[in-house]
Amino acid sequence: MCGIVGYIGKREAWPILIKGLERLEYRGYDSAGVAIMNSGAISVYKKLGKVSELSKFVKNKSDKNISGLVGIAHTRWATHGEPSDKNAHPHLSMSGDIAVVHNGIIENYLSLKKVLIEKGFKFKSDTDTEVISNLIEDIKKSAKVSFDEAVRLALLEVVGAYAIVVLSKDDPNTIVVAKKGSPVVIGIGKEEFFIASDATPIIEYTDKVIYLDDNEMAIIKNGKLLVKTIENEVKNPYIQKLEMKIEELEKGGFPHFMLKEIYEQPRSIKDSMRGRISAKDGMIKLGGIECHQDKLINAKRIIILACGTSWHAGLEAKYFFEEIAKTPTIVEYASEFRYRNPVIYPDDLVIVISQSGETADTLAALKLAKEKGATVFGVCNVVGSSIPRATDAGVYTHAGPEIGVASTKAFTAQLTVLFLMCIFLADKKEVLSKKEIKKLLIELENIPEKVEKALLCNDSVKKIAEKLKNMKNFIYLGRGYGFPLALEGALKIKEISYIHADGYPAGEMKHGPIALVDENMPVVFIANHSALYEKVVSNMMEVKARKGVVVAIITKGDTNIKKIADYCIEIPETTDVMMPFVASVPLQLLAYHVARLRGCDIDKPRNLAKSVTVE
Ligand code: GLU
Repeated sequence: MCGIVGYIGKREAWPILIKGLERLEYRGYDSAGVAIMNSGAISVYKKLGKVSELSKFVKNKSDKNISGLVGIAHTRWATHGEPSDKNAHPHLSMSGDIAVVHNGIIENYLSLKKVLIEKGFKFKSDTDTEVISNLIEDIKKSAKVSFDEAVRLALLEVVGAYAIVVLSKDDPNTIVVAKKGSPVVIGIGKEEFFIASDATPIIEYTDKVIYLDDNEMAIIKNGKLLVKTIENEVKNPYIQKLEMKIEELEKGGFPHFMLKEIYEQPRSIKDSMRGRISAKDGMIKLGGIECHQDKLINAKRIIILACGTSWHAGLEAKYFFEEIAKTPTIVEYASEFRYRNPVIYPDDLVIVISQSGETADTLAALKLAKEKGATVFGVCNVVGSSIPRATDAGVYTHAGPEIGVASTKAFTAQLTVLFLMCIFLADKKEVLSKKEIKKLLIELENIPEKVEKALLCNDSVKKIAEKLKNMKNFIYLGRGYGFPLALEGALKIKEISYIHADGYPAGEMKHGPIALVDENMPVVFIANHSALYEKVVSNMMEVKARKGVVVAIITKGDTNIKKIADYCIEIPETTDVMMPFVASVPLQLLAYHVARLRGCDIDKPRNLAKSVTVE
């Protein structure tokens, strides 16, 4: 959450910073701001609202001070203090000498603030961040140390999570960056450096990057970069090459990133399995977990930890692992797991799932599982992010950058990778014959084409959305593999249309949700042909008997449900286990069209942000 950008070099900073903020806006859009160093002074511009508001504000001021070769910028997802001009970052110290942008939460900010107030510091905002700039200023003046040393000493007093970029008026050719718990990347150009929360603002300038580790800081001074720990140990940074392509960060003719990403799924699913399977030979190769494959093969239990949509992918995986690989599996919210005292056995294998690889709760849960002796595998999308770096082994989803806040292609890519892991395990455990494995892999290879065909339902989904756009609630029901999908469908519509929705196992309906059913309650059934088809149809009849509005996702050619449901969305036939890949599409499109017809900001839904780097 929240995007930070910094630049130091020979170019004008403002255009680089503002473009960087636009790229990072999916991380937060409560307010935006920049600080630019100009002739030994720091000029700050900040504004409530989206990055476009900041651009307009700066344009209207047509202020000459916006020129400068060093600057920092921020797009906020508020944690402490309401979204407002005054709470927007950058935050200046009391004298205006130090400017800070921050992603994270300073947990001991109240006690630090109290001490600083006693020393005479005055605060202008309600944020936790402002204590950092004042603390640096206090230490710099009272201990008479250099700027970067003051940052380092300040960080020794700070408890919490942060990625910060700091400027000092007295050191106009210096930027200090530091990280603990929140992500930050430094791009290395020719005599210039780019700093950002993730690589998306950097890729158009350079493909050489350094990911700072926790408790590390970078001092960029007069064209040179020094990395050290906040305990003052100098580090030799590892320079990585970015694989991202700039086109992946553009909308490519689609009105929204979300729609583009829904349509990318035939390709992203293919990319998730590329080079990993040979269906005709019934072979799977997962290089990323080979070195620890015995831990998976011998696991008595798999524990999956994740949040949000990734948790739903994890729940599907539980069904995969138990049904196909015969390994008991539990799925838990990372945010719960991290604060319980969970029992981990030596022969448990933990799998953490996160699109961004930066989800704060998942990262903390991973660390706890490791402390308790577990081997941890990761399923992440962003290469080089914190979670893959902290796990023992893992498999990247390779879905390409996902910018839409509501996750779509990352979900189906996670399903693909988890399914591959499951078949890999079933093969090694010899609980499936080669023939069965081949059959499953051949069907998996057909999935991109089936997803392509499922996308043809777009127009009919749009028409259904037109009818349902003013509904106040939705229920989503499914059984078996359809249940996690019901949860995911409900989450999608909540996230981007702000309509209350609940997902339930269809069989649970009579234990409560059926009380809600009347002619104003749309009930979306995941009702494809499956072993539980008849049961789902009975539940549908029960809803119809109570005048509920039934929307059914059905297997192409199902004339039976067409007679019962008010609206049907047809998708291609596939096996039970692979149905979620295909049935995800109409659920995503339904949420998309309802949100669009309601005039919602689809790629920037209110109160949400992507990459949840705060707990
Ligand atoms: N805690 C800071 C604030 O509320 C930063 C929030 C963030 O990381 O999004 O302004």
